Amino acid sequence: MLYDDTPIAKLLDATHGKPKLLVVDDKPVNIQVLHQVFASDYQVFMATSGAQALAICLSNPPDLILLDVVMPEMDGFEVCIQLKSDAATRDIPIIFVTAHDDTSQETHGLDVGAVDFIAKPVNPAVVRARVKTHLMLKLQSDVMRKLVFLDGLTGVFNRRYFDQQVVIEWARSARNDSPLSVILIDVDCFKDFNDHYGHQAGDDCLQQIARTLKSSLKRPADLVARYGGEEFVCILPDTGFDDAMLIARGLEQQVRATEISHAKSTISPFVTISLGVAARSHLQANSLIDDGTLDSSVLVALADARLYLAKSNGRGQACGD
Ligand code: GH3
Ligand code: MG
Ligand code: MG
Repeated sequence: MLYDDTPIAKLLDATHGKPKLLVVDDKPVNIQVLHQVFASDYQVFMATSGAQALAICLSNPPDLILLDVVMPEMDGFEVCIQLKSDAATRDIPIIFVTAHDDTSQETHGLDVGAVDFIAKPVNPAVVRARVKTHLMLKLQSDVMRKLVFLDGLTGVFNRRYFDQQVVIEWARSARNDSPLSVILIDVDCFKDFNDHYGHQAGDDCLQQIARTLKSSLKRPADLVARYGGEEFVCILPDTGFDDAMLIARGLEQQVRATEISHAKSTISPFVTISLGVAARSHLQANSLIDDGTLDSSVLVALADARLYLAKSNGRGQACGD
């Protein structure tokens, strides 16, 4: 195993597979040396120019970069500056590899955002140890970043992540004029469930519902988050109203089919959910609303109003108008 036998190391190994290493050097023979050092423990990608390195970082971001300083056209410092200025690549740790034994160059490298410096010719044991250390730190901070956006009870995304993503997806949808839908979900008669079965059973029920919602959404871009208490929310990018309605009905049926007993429900022997569905196209179609003043909060408010309707129409159903 690549990492030590600690719980965090096990988690990182299990969640991450073989880490991806990008080796950048204009001389293929130098790349060859590092490839031999790392090939058995890492997926090693190679680039022989700065431009090639930047392209790989955007299309298939590595976990760490070993970057030559002196290269024709774009040198390593410039590559580093560009990677650090882009949010998509900013967090990739960069170790400079250089033939120069020059502390001012080293300082400059660290100033532009590198995490370390290694001298050529490389000592395999040293470069292996340094890469391992920096990868461990990177993977740990990846895990921490992710935990900040996950709901502690159910493991789906939390409200903070939803609030951030709905704004991003709204902007993308407006920019590309692509469809966007939101589904707001509330568990029916959940206070009575807690009162009857106890709070622990209530927690188990929320976990089960979260799992069902998550596994029912098929597209990678679809997102389910815990909105609060016993409420969940889905963001469905590139999904128009009719499809969102079908998905909402599917979610309702899936939760019902889980058959979590609910002796105190007024509508079914099993736990059910109510859903409110709203699509951006509905807001645009309403000529009373000026397109410029619309934002994602209007979409969520519309889904909320329709959730309220689903409740007053008898619960255990999806409502879209
Ligand atoms: P309705 O069908 O109208 O939605 O009725 P309801 O009882 O589901 O709605 P209400 O808002 O009256 O009650 C929500 C309940 O959800 C009350 C609260 O104790 C429970 N709840 C909220 N968050 C949690 C949680 O994290 N765990 C558990 N076990 N219960 C929770
Ligand atoms: Mg509620
Ligand atoms: Mg409820």
